[in-house]
Amino acid sequence: MALLFYSEYDDPSDWGKHLREAIPGLDFRVWPEAGDPRDIQAAMVWKAPEGELRKFPNLRLIINLGAGVDSIVQDRSLPEGIPIVRIADPDMSRMMAQFVLAAVLRHYRDFVSFARAQKERRWHYLHPREAPACSVGVMGLGNLGAMAASELVRQGFQVSGWARSPKSLEGVKSFHGKEGFAPFLAKSEILVVMLPLTPETEGVLDAKALSLLPRGAKIVNVGRGKLVDEGALIAALRSGHIAEATLDVFQVEPLPSTSPLWDFDQVLVTPHLASVAIPRTAARQVAENLRRLAAGEPLINVVDPKRGY
Ligand code: NDP
Repeated sequence: MALLFYSEYDDPSDWGKHLREAIPGLDFRVWPEAGDPRDIQAAMVWKAPEGELRKFPNLRLIINLGAGVDSIVQDRSLPEGIPIVRIADPDMSRMMAQFVLAAVLRHYRDFVSFARAQKERRWHYLHPREAPACSVGVMGLGNLGAMAASELVRQGFQVSGWARSPKSLEGVKSFHGKEGFAPFLAKSEILVVMLPLTPETEGVLDAKALSLLPRGAKIVNVGRGKLVDEGALIAALRSGHIAEATLDVFQVEPLPSTSPLWDFDQVLVTPHLASVAIPRTAARQVAENLRRLAAGEPLINVVDPKRGY
């Protein structure tokens, strides 16, 4: 079977190396060198050009080269009826948990205030609070959110989480659904956004939702930019209702140079890299899915296009 690879962000030679180790003799082709389109039975893609995958008449599997599937499930140009699987890898979750922890600690340990004071050559003593006095809310408790929440528990924070369904994670107070939304936000002094972008979650953090956070709350968004009403966030940053933010994802990426978000010294802008698919470990699950596909067995990490994640 031939596997086609397309990504502008990931290294095909690294993926090829690890995939060939997992599947000796794998016919691994890197776009645009696809060869005879009839040979391609699986495609591993991150944001493939529109309509591209329709060129392969024998395509049986689409592998999304990442955890977030919003761009692929919204792509109306994909051939119909072909299963989509995604990367759900503990090493990717660990990389995300590290980013979240770094961001939360930066807010919790007042690094933003110290950076401001340093610019003014001002000695600015703020007595540290202990972690159990600080409440952190994690929106989305899936593969990535659950590991980040557990890591925050390990650091001693008061952690709560919000998902569609109730969760039982050690040390994490679980909220779910519409009824859990307002009480969850009211408790989140630092809010970590790790939801997938779906028709249900788009704009979930609008002006009303932001107003439900405690005054002076801090936001870490590593989910998707369109989960948050950016205009409302900017207004809340200006009013001080939201004191600080760490933003890795934006409504428009790259973030336009005209965005006011660049100007706030209390906002850290990072270019959508909180976590990435790691070939060394994730190649194994891609290989497993290719094996299952060949054997006609049920696939793993299957995306539900209707649910959107
Ligand atoms: P999962 O699909 O494993 O988990 C999604 C979580 O969100 C689940 O807990 C789910 O609830 C919850 N959820 C979904 N819809 C709703 C809703 N309407 N209301 C409440 N909760 C909801 O995703 P991952 O953890 O693997 O990834 C999360 C997101 O992180 C990705 O979709 C992607 O957008 C983003 N991401 C960002 C990266 C970056 O570098 N910035 C890198 C990788 C991913 P339930 O469990 O009840 O189904």
